[in-house]
Amino acid sequence: MAERRDTVGRTVIQNATIFDGTGRPTTRGDLVVEGNRVTSVGAATTAQPGDVTIDARGLFLMPGMVEGHAHLSFENVCATEDLITPCPETQVFTAARGARALIEAGFTSAYGASEAKLKLAVAVREEVNAGRLPGPRIRAGGLEISVTGAMGDESKAHNPRQGPSAIVDGVEEMRKTVRLHCREGIDNIKLDVSGDPFYPGTPGHTTPMTFEEVRVAAETAHAYGRKVNAHTRSIEGSKHCVRAGVDGLFHCEYADEELLDMMEAARERIFVVPTVGLFAQIMAGEACAHGLSPEVGGYMNIPDLLENSLKTHTELRRRGIRHLIGGDYGFGWSPQGTQGRDLKSFVDFYGYTPAEALVCATRNGGLAMGYGGELGTLEPGKLADLILVDGDPLADISILAGPDKVVFVMKDGAVQKLSPTLAARANSPALEAAE
Ligand SMILES: [Zn+2]
Repeated sequence: MAERRDTVGRTVIQNATIFDGTGRPTTRGDLVVEGNRVTSVGAATTAQPGDVTIDARGLFLMPGMVEGHAHLSFENVCATEDLITPCPETQVFTAARGARALIEAGFTSAYGASEAKLKLAVAVREEVNAGRLPGPRIRAGGLEISVTGAMGDESKAHNPRQGPSAIVDGVEEMRKTVRLHCREGIDNIKLDVSGDPFYPGTPGHTTPMTFEEVRVAAETAHAYGRKVNAHTRSIEGSKHCVRAGVDGLFHCEYADEELLDMMEAARERIFVVPTVGLFAQIMAGEACAHGLSPEVGGYMNIPDLLENSLKTHTELRRRGIRHLIGGDYGFGWSPQGTQGRDLKSFVDFYGYTPAEALVCATRNGGLAMGYGGELGTLEPGKLADLILVDGDPLADISILAGPDKVVFVMKDGAVQKLSPTLAARANSPALEAAE
């Protein structure tokens, strides 16, 4: 893995199979990057003296992917305790490893959900932006904001303690907490609007947070120019979110016709992240070694959530909702950097074609990141976040399930990863030295 290496002048990627992220069919040809922008896509380009050239024959060129619900500080998590016990000084290294794993797997952006402590993603974002740590573009999440007795509230009357959360009740506490997150540099506010199967007192179909609390959070976050996202599995919770102006809706398993209509009407404004991986992995038996067998999942009502996820998100796909991949990786059975597994789940569960799933991972994610439409596709003038894949994801979408087939990563025009094999096919001494 190469350290960050700035590319000066032009980079010409030659003879690649180009998937531009718009949904158009692939083409064969060259792609040119100048500075941090893509300047030419597909047209045959004659290399000039001083250009860096990469022979990409047989490789698949596509926009960098976007993790749509990032928990950078989650690593080998098996219980909430694993987020609470370590100190922030330790966890900032954990979050830095999470950022590195994402960029090595071809994720050039991370749209933040929440973190184990308030400023972990902020600290990593600053180091990555300064070029001192490898990692994607980061919209930093903070603590999950929840209400007394709901998901994230780890206290009992006899044992008050701090979870990976901020617990608020009422609109004034909500306003204060969102403002505090904004003050500390958080980009993405995250609300726990619905309950969750990991909190038996408030299961997934319940809605502990009031509409007024959600509305004030959205209004406050937007007043500071931040985005607001919500953990919402319940029908009522998701309706609160759409009505209150929440930007990103996470999970959204349960729906009725009214909610589907509301989401469709808001489809140019909202983004939806099903986070399909976590429950699918539990029901596939992948979490057995960590005490979460399919049988335990059954007691937690996870089969019902998964079944509803399939129904709801298949219907939302039909209605043109902007889905993002990723979310809830970093558990004991789902290491950071394997978020690309969701691509196959989008195909298998929600009826996406492989090309459409890649659009979710690239164009939709780029739009959610908020660069005014300049991120997520490979078109002249767009920001140069791109990857080369050794293989054809349209023929086998599972090859993006980890870092191995991602042989080249560029973010903002700077090379982040270059496999030794590909380095031998590049003409620049600087790139060869990156082996
Ligand atoms: Zn999450």
